[in-house]
Amino acid sequence: MAEKRDYYEVLGVDKSATDQDLKRAYRKLAKKYHPDANPGNKEAEEKFKEASEAYAVLSDKEKRAQYDQFGHAAFEGGAGGAGGFGGFDFSDIFSSFGDIFGGGGFSDIFGGGSRGRRNGPQPGHDVQTRIEISFKEAAFGCKKNVDLWVYDTCPECSGSGAKKGTRPETCPTCHGSGQQRVQQQTMFGTMASIRTCSTCGGTGQIIRDKCEQCGGTGRIKVKKTYEINIPAGIDAGQSVRMPGKGEPGMQGGPNGDLYITVMVKPDEIFTREGYDLYCSVPISFVQAALGDTLTIPTLDGKVEYPIEPGTQTGTRFRLRGKGIPYLRNNAQRGNLYVTVNVEVPKKLTEHQKKLLKEFGESMGTSVKNQPKSFFKKMKDAFD
Ligand SMILES: [Zn+2]
Ligand SMILES: [Zn+2]
Repeated sequence: MAEKRDYYEVLGVDKSATDQDLKRAYRKLAKKYHPDANPGNKEAEEKFKEASEAYAVLSDKEKRAQYDQFGHAAFEGGAGGAGGFGGFDFSDIFSSFGDIFGGGGFSDIFGGGSRGRRNGPQPGHDVQTRIEISFKEAAFGCKKNVDLWVYDTCPECSGSGAKKGTRPETCPTCHGSGQQRVQQQTMFGTMASIRTCSTCGGTGQIIRDKCEQCGGTGRIKVKKTYEINIPAGIDAGQSVRMPGKGEPGMQGGPNGDLYITVMVKPDEIFTREGYDLYCSVPISFVQAALGDTLTIPTLDGKVEYPIEPGTQTGTRFRLRGKGIPYLRNNAQRGNLYVTVNVEVPKKLTEHQKKLLKEFGESMGTSVKNQPKSFFKKMKDAFD
């Protein structure tokens, strides 16, 4: 399942949007993506649902406040979890604001699909976790074990939720469909909509004797250890997806996926930008003036690099292919950019001072050794 987009972003409004702004934005999107106007267009249908969900939340003061505070997490992990759209029951949403187009039943669009029904196969929820790895591990890839508490099918009842030796019974209210048809009076007249059965919560079944191990939910939290292959070239904030390692699906639905987001510890020497690396190397004034062969740290070990006589401080040179391997093509690598910084010695012996003074004189810059006079001259010049 793709990352959920921000509701405000979906509607193209900012956080201060008024009810009128929201309505206007939603109406525009809904017109554009309405399934009637885009028959058979799956993408338009998804966009329409996405916009509808965003509007359903943001147009409800209480839900909007929750969303502003907690984001999508505000509506996740609800009882049973309706799956698909993070717990939203579309028939419920549309019965409350179907009037925005001036009538028309939405149950036709959403009632028939498996999304609105909870007793059909439901995909399991995706699971997210984070892992911290070192700079080098990110560069060259690694294997890591991750311990996770995830929901799994209850072994005691095999997921039925019923006590051992008993079975769930068909719900007497909805006769197993999980849905109820209700008539509602709106300002545009009577509208029929389909709602989740209130007796069974949409499962189509009721459990008389609940399984003791899972309390009737059919699922229990278990600790699982997964070995994760982190590919070379991954960067901080990127995720590794493990299909089918999320929560189990319900009623034969597919499992969710596991997403592991990578956090990378900073390195003492290198900083990274994309696949390129940057570092700085201190050199002495003498090395800079006379030229030298420097020992440069790289991810693959130290390399020798010659610098020209007269190298200036701040000079940057490039070591081709000494950067990070490309994520999808490890044969290719970024570059390493090395900046040399000339360091001025802080402590000198008397002999060294003498040599430097002589050097200064030979360059035509005699040293007065009285910095104060320099500042005095400066002062005189400006007075
Ligand atoms: Zn159980
Ligand atoms: Zn029912």
